[in-house]
Amino acid sequence: MVGDRDWGLGDRDDDEADEVALDAVLLQDAAHVWHPYTQHLQAPIPIAIARAKGAWLYEGNGRPILDAISSWWVTTHGHCHDDIVAAIAEQARTLDQVIFAGFTHAPAAALAAGLCARLPRGLSRIFFSDDGSTAVEVAIKLSLQSFANRGQPRRLIAALDHAYHGDTFGAMAAGARGVFTHMYEPLLFEVARLPDPSEGDTIRALDQLLQTRGSELAAVIVEPLILGAGGMRVWDERVLQQIRERTRAAGVHLIADEVLTGFGRTGPMFACERADVAPDLLCMSKGITGGTLPLGATAATEAIYDAFLSSDREKTFFHGHSYTANPIACAAALASLELFDEDSEDDRIRIEVAQAHHLSALRGTPGVHAVRQIGTIAAVELTGTTGYLSGVGRELASFALQENVLLRPLGTVAYCLPPYCTTNEELDRVYEVIQRFLDGERAETPGSGGPVDD
Ligand SMILES: *Cc1c(COP(=O)(O)O)cnc(C)c1O
Repeated sequence: MVGDRDWGLGDRDDDEADEVALDAVLLQDAAHVWHPYTQHLQAPIPIAIARAKGAWLYEGNGRPILDAISSWWVTTHGHCHDDIVAAIAEQARTLDQVIFAGFTHAPAAALAAGLCARLPRGLSRIFFSDDGSTAVEVAIKLSLQSFANRGQPRRLIAALDHAYHGDTFGAMAAGARGVFTHMYEPLLFEVARLPDPSEGDTIRALDQLLQTRGSELAAVIVEPLILGAGGMRVWDERVLQQIRERTRAAGVHLIADEVLTGFGRTGPMFACERADVAPDLLCMSKGITGGTLPLGATAATEAIYDAFLSSDREKTFFHGHSYTANPIACAAALASLELFDEDSEDDRIRIEVAQAHHLSALRGTPGVHAVRQIGTIAAVELTGTTGYLSGVGRELASFALQENVLLRPLGTVAYCLPPYCTTNEELDRVYEVIQRFLDGERAETPGSGGPVDD
């Protein structure tokens, strides 16, 4: 592809070649691939995406699809950003991978320093891992072991109702129990549950917990200011401040799971900044590489790091992954950080304003139960039976897809969580599709619409 003007158009021969390749992809996929969160008996044939640019995904046949969910919340500056692509290519030629125990490399060291410079105060150590779930596992293990290493073991974790922290066992245990986890319930460790601050009195419950089991409590883990997968439930920054005050006074760690909220999603670089809160541990992934390569990172305070320094080797943090701090992923993350220093904030503010405008138009519309927003994330709760398996969200998703817009509601909660390069015209299109769905319309001609020309 050369030049933005050609997006999605291509020439005829290319399209025909792509069609053949597309069939092969789907045949191999149907025979051998097992997709995430997919009921393969009922799922439609997956859409094979051949390339992407900016806010758009392109099917093999050239059909453009507007990525209004940042490809599962990861894409920040836009797909295939030239600077990140160049950094990846350069790094892949220079150093692809090296064991990270006993060895280090420039991209990891520079990334750790770059993250610490931008993180809330006091977070000065970075432990790398692979994804959001592993970043959470690491945070929980660091908290528990830091207490044990100091000779004052604490084993209890507290988490919020409706929380989501990932799909590995520790992350599942911390997350809300429900359709995703009930199968494994007997195998999940005990977690004290606090009410979701968007609907209950979290602080009262926390005070009670501290009174009754304070000496057992190692950490409180929260998704700061918005419970994402639990339904885009936005909550008050004063509650986060109070959780911080209470946990600090009780010597309990605060773990901020910023896997979704990190890297500008709620406005500032990290959601904790909105509340001027500094946690003891902070989990990052998703947007960390701009959405190009998998990488997880857990930031810790120097006090937690110090708890592992010992001549007793048993106090070592015995945790690591084969690809810990993969140089290519770190180089992508560094290139992404640099883009955050450029004009990303202006774009985020522009998107926040545009989303607010669209939401206010939807508020009170028949079919809309509630709207909510924080930063670049906007959610529309539709009326209908609630729960992740609710039908109305899936109906909206398939309607939107016919209109070349990718939405993936969480049950009845539709949301728009776009890459920061998304233009106001592209956002208009997302909301036009939602509005038409609410009006009871159905797609006339599948395949209409392409990138907005601006
Ligand atoms: C997505 C998410 C995770 C899990 O991240 P993966 O990379 O999917 O393992 C953890 N916490 C939060 C808040 C998330 O949104």
